[in-house]
Amino acid sequence: MAQVCVDRVVGEILAGWRYDISGLAPEMREDYEQHFIECNRCRSKQRLHRTIDFGLIIIASGSAIVFLLAFGAIRHFNPARALLLEIAKLQREHEEDADRSMANNLTKFTGRNPMVAAE
Ligand SMILES: [Zn+2]
Repeated sequence: MAQVCVDRVVGEILAGWRYDISGLAPEMREDYEQHFIECNRCRSKQRLHRTIDFGLIIIASGSAIVFLLAFGAIRHFNPARALLLEIAKLQREHEEDADRSMANNLTKFTGRNPMVAAE
């Protein structure tokens, strides 16, 4: 793999662009395309960089798809909200039970029902 670039100046320019000349105007591109034909090292570097680029595109697209699936699943099943409502309901029932038994005890000991407004 220890290949040497046939024209280091052009090779360094290409390295600065990550071996991507697709953004260049066609008439400017010719010299660099010629260099890719002549230079094994830059050609293999170009292939490596495009492989990395497409790998990243595939990974990003895959994670976007997984995100949308998860988003859809959450919207469809709504598990977090249902769980919170369940907990809130249990808490409210527990507090009402506690209030009722407190009132019963007070009624037992004082003979008055504290839930009924004092007259
Ligand atoms: Zn080169």
